[in-house]
This record gives sequence, C-alpha cells and structure tokens, in this order.
Amino acid sequence: MHSFHYSQGSLHCENVSLSDLATEHGTPLYVYSAETFRDRYTRLDSAFAGIDHEVAYAVKANSNLSVLRLLVSLGSGFDIVSGGELYRVIKAGGDPSKCTFAGVGKTRAEIEYALKEGIYSINVESEEEAAFVSKVAVEMDLTAPIAFRVNPNVDAKTHKYISTGKSENKFGIDFEFIAGAYERAAKLPNLQLKGLQMHIGSQLTSVDPFLEAVEKVTPLAEDLKEKYGIEFFSIGGGIGIVYEQALASGKESWWTDQSEEDRPLTPEKYAATIIPSLEGLGLKILLEPGRFIAGNAGVLLTECLYEKKGSTKTFKIVDSGMHHLIRPALYQGHHEIVPLAEPDGNTESVDVVGPICESGDFFCQNRTLPSFMPGETIALMSAGAYGMVMATTYNSHPLPAEILVDGDQVKLVRKRQTFDDLVEAEEV
Ligand SMILES: *Cc1c(COP(=O)(O)O)cnc(C)c1O
Repeated sequence: MHSFHYSQGSLHCENVSLSDLATEHGTPLYVYSAETFRDRYTRLDSAFAGIDHEVAYAVKANSNLSVLRLLVSLGSGFDIVSGGELYRVIKAGGDPSKCTFAGVGKTRAEIEYALKEGIYSINVESEEEAAFVSKVAVEMDLTAPIAFRVNPNVDAKTHKYISTGKSENKFGIDFEFIAGAYERAAKLPNLQLKGLQMHIGSQLTSVDPFLEAVEKVTPLAEDLKEKYGIEFFSIGGGIGIVYEQALASGKESWWTDQSEEDRPLTPEKYAATIIPSLEGLGLKILLEPGRFIAGNAGVLLTECLYEKKGSTKTFKIVDSGMHHLIRPALYQGHHEIVPLAEPDGNTESVDVVGPICESGDFFCQNRTLPSFMPGETIALMSAGAYGMVMATTYNSHPLPAEILVDGDQVKLVRKRQTFDDLVEAEEV
C-alpha cells in the first residue's frame, strides 16, 4: 500500500494534489498521509496478534502532536527519550502508563516528571542510572518501575551512526554484565524490576540481526522472569523501510512500490521469524518502531529556485536543504526525488542542493532524476521519519509547515515559522 501516487498528471497524497498544497501553503512543506500511518501501525500490530504484545511508537521519529494523536486513537503505546517527548504524548491525549522512557542521559527533572506521571517503565542504560532512579524514587516516596537495556553485541549491519547494539556503542549494558546489574538493582530500595529492553539499531533491512539478538537474549529474559518476576521484554525498533525505488524505464515506474516478495523485511516476515523464539516466554513483548510507522508516511516538498551548470556538474538549487532534512548529510540517507508534475521520461544527472552555507548541504549527488526546471516543485519521498524532528533554523531559515492529509481532508498541523518566531525568545 502506498498513499503517494500520480493521478491526472500530478503527484497526490491520498486524494489531495501536492501541487495544490504547495500553491496554497508554500514550500518547503512537509506532508503526511494518515492512511500510511494507520496502515503501518495496523500491519505490525496484526502481525503480532498471536502473542501478548504492545506497539510503542518511538516518538522521536515524528513527534507532531497530530501524528501522536492519530496513534493514540489507534491504541498505540509510546517509547519516549526525553521529558519533552512525554509532555508531547500527554498533550496529544496519550497515557503515560503506556509509555516507556529510554535514553542514556536522563536528568533528575525528567525522571521525577516520568515517575509523577506514572510511566510504565524507565529503561535504564547503566547501573549508575538505576541507583539514581532508586534515590529519586525514595525521595518521592514511590516505587519506580525499571528495565535494563541490554546491549547484545550484535551487528545490525546498518550505517554505523544508527547502529546501537554493538559493545562499542554507548547504548545499554554489555550482555556479560547484565545479570550482575539486575542482582545489584534488586537490592536497591523503591525499584520494581519490571522488564528487559534492547534496541540494536535503525533501518535494518534484514531479519537476521533481529533473530540473532532475540535468540541471544531470550534465555536471559526467561531467567530474569524466574528470578525477579519481570513482566515485559522489549525487542526495540529498527525495522527498515524501502527508501530506494527500482528505477525502471517508463513513467509508471517512477513511484511504484517494490513488490512485497522482493522486500527483505516486512512486518509479517519479521513476526514470523522471531515469534517462535518469543511465544513460550510468557512475557509481554514490546515493539518500538519509529521509522517503520512514520518513514513512508511523509514527503518534503521543495521548490527549485535555480539551475546552475558548473564545469562538471549541474546543480539544482532548491528552497529546502539539510536544515529541514538532514539524513543525507548525517548518515548518507537516500530519498527518492520526483517532480510533482508526472515525469515525461526525460532525465538528467544532477546534484540537488539547498541554500545552506555548508558543502554537506545536498539531497543527492550525481543522480539521474526526471528533469525538472526552476519554478517547479519536487518531492523528497519517505521523509516522514527523522525529517522535521531534526529540522533546525540554521542560517535563520524559519521552519517549514506540516500538513496531515486524511482522504480528501487537509489539516495544517504545524504553522510555518515567521521571522518573529525565529527571534521570539531572544533579546536585543
Ligand atoms: C530510536 C529508537 C527506536 C526507534 O528506532 P526506529 O529505527 O525508528 O524504529 C526504538 N527504541 C529505542 C530505544 C530508540 O532509541
């Protein structure tokens, strides 16, 4: 299922023409499809229907309040990594008792806030943090539910900046130290050892590392259940999505979904592969997908301002860049780029670059794209996750607006920033 397609010569999100949205709301503009969010959530949730489980959407992937609201309405739980994200979830009507709190550097204020709101679990990433949570809980005169994050030392085979489950990464507690960590934490006051957590990386495109990690950690989970009565095992997020579409000839093929069988990783394959190792545990299995839910649900629209022909390259200069979508600059992220007007088959090899004074400010380099000219608007596909949430005002460009489309309904879910917004918190 894909909610972005050409219809009557122009790219649509569900029933809405993206050119119409660009004309009305201007560019740069993020546009999200409610249908895709629903589809991804439901598919993953259904794939695990056979076992006790909960989908806890990783808020950091896309934390717009309306996106969170949509997920609340589907029954989602949430994986948060800061007090600010918990605040957003509560604002959106979410229930803190369906939230887990991850991250290596939680502050006292964040821990107090999470405990006061009745968080489901604080997923601690060091013994020092467990001791600190215990201390805060004693002071607050309540019991803090915690889980340790185990680092299973498994190679996720993804970009090194988004790999988190190797012993050289800062995340979690080394597999060989984890039993001792539980033993010591069990002696600390005001802690409930509620679960076990892991997350080995992001944008995994094969099920093998997941299976390797699950098989390695499941006996530990079993042991911890027996010893301390833990009730959940979170297997993290990381399910990859398809960013790169096969570029076959013929204009229908510009934006077609890769066929299901060709995909290395689908929610169904993921579930079918790991459920056999998990179903006998008798623990609630938590899933923490971010990118899988949000990635394909959004596009970034940007207008081409200039074409500059250099001696070796053609640059298409657009009105958005690394300040709005940093994935290409940060970890060589790939986004398909298509014009809103249906391509006629002509192509060009180009660099698509933004206005920012950094050589890293590009969306693609030396890529063959359907031809487009200044004045035309293009779409960066699959920009729904780790897009707007990482946007900055670097070079003092106001942040883009965000739109949520649902069928033929259009909702402006974040206003475009103004110059006044840019300087609002500052003083002369
Ligand atoms: C980032 C993160 C996720 C989500 O990762 P995706 O690759 O977006 O699915 C899940 N769990 C934890 C602890 C994370 O830090």
